[in-house]
Amino acid sequence: MSKIDIVAASGNKYKIQEIKDILKDLPVNILSKNDVGLGNLETDEDKDTLEGNALKKAVEISRKIDSVVIADDTGLFVDKLDGRPGVYSSRYAGENSTYEENNKKLLEELKDLPQSERTAKFKTVIAIVLRDGSYKTVLGECLGSIGLEPKGENGFGYDPLFIVDGYNKTFAELGDEIKNKISHRADALKKLKNQLKVMLEVDEV
Ligand code: IMP
Repeated sequence: MSKIDIVAASGNKYKIQEIKDILKDLPVNILSKNDVGLGNLETDEDKDTLEGNALKKAVEISRKIDSVVIADDTGLFVDKLDGRPGVYSSRYAGENSTYEENNKKLLEELKDLPQSERTAKFKTVIAIVLRDGSYKTVLGECLGSIGLEPKGENGFGYDPLFIVDGYNKTFAELGDEIKNKISHRADALKKLKNQLKVMLEVDEV
């Protein structure tokens, strides 16, 4: 059976490898946007939902090439902050803010709140756009809470503050091997796999 090309709207080699690992049993060939000559294409993520941004990124690439396209968007949603930073997670402390500045702002906003009231979740939405323009989105989640101080050395972004439910450790303490099995992105990728089986009418090989 010939493989179906899927272009992932990412240039991040770790994300591409994670996608390849999870979809390895499907008859699909994962390409990055660099592989198809669209490495310079940057989408303005100006929608106010993860779905909106993921879909915008996928559609923009899909208009330029004749392949199935997938794109993701992720955010951290803190209950006591009405879901902030949410879709604005990468620029919580301002345009071009660093991970450290974002984490500092988050700790300030939650100042004086006890651990039990610092519940949060990571959400990842992946949009899949087929060659005929039809699309679907899937949602992955990981539940946890925001620590009182950063802990751990691994990962990126909010990892040092995000204490994962059931582990009592931050993503940064758990490390990538465990994180990549239980994360919001892993959850979304497992759902993507099921969705692709339906949309592309393929079985595992
Ligand atoms: P993106 O949609 O994957 O670019 O994620 C948007 C922002 O969410 C990033 O800039 C990070 O601040 C945060 N983020 C996304 N995924 C993670 C994660 O796995 N751990 C910690 N922070 C994350």
